[in-house]
Amino acid sequence: MSVSELQKIVDESQYIVFFGGAGVSTESGIPDFRSADGLYNQKYDVPPETMLSHTYFEKHPEEFFRFHRDKMICTWAKPNAAHLKLAELERAGKLKAVVTQNIDGLHQAAGSQVVYELHGSVLRNYCLKCGKTYGVEFILESEGVPRCACGGIVRPDVVLYEEALDQEQIEGAVLAISRADTLIIGGTSLTVYPAAGFINYFRGKNLVLINRDPTPFDHRATLVLHEKVGEVLGSIRV
Ligand code: ZN
Repeated sequence: MSVSELQKIVDESQYIVFFGGAGVSTESGIPDFRSADGLYNQKYDVPPETMLSHTYFEKHPEEFFRFHRDKMICTWAKPNAAHLKLAELERAGKLKAVVTQNIDGLHQAAGSQVVYELHGSVLRNYCLKCGKTYGVEFILESEGVPRCACGGIVRPDVVLYEEALDQEQIEGAVLAISRADTLIIGGTSLTVYPAAGFINYFRGKNLVLINRDPTPFDHRATLVLHEKVGEVLGSIRV
């Protein structure tokens, strides 16, 4: 493992951006529903991709929220070595932004300030009718379909399948990536939209890929580490 090479890159970098996928959260015990050992083959007849679609949410809100409370809200999870090190790198002025596809809020829990959440966050919720915002406790403590005082459905501020990504989050992420001298990508196979497209905005010197399995971008990277992202980042000195 060439952690020493990554250390050298981190030492010489002034503007690091981290782009993370589901693999960052799985090390905190959060299941990845896209992986074979993820949420498949469990007690739901409908595949997660269907349950997490806009159509399903509209047609079957009861089932949607049952699944959401059961599988998507993981407030028991704690930040791991990857989250903590990225927050430390930001405090040291080395890292300028985290771009994540995860919806668990663990980067903020670890202390990161600049976080672009491409798929939103289960910790934020809002009324579809009046726009009032609610925390995750409101969803956990309510039963069936959570309702606002005004009668509207309170939904999680996450991007469901068939829904567009938040434009502000995309713009922030793209700007940060385009300014970075080092882009570290971790815990994603880079096969799922929109991850792959973001790499094309990177004009910096060092592209680092940390993923247990090979990715289609390995050949373009300055450094490839087929390791767990938490273990690799955890061993970096700030
Ligand atoms: Zn309302």
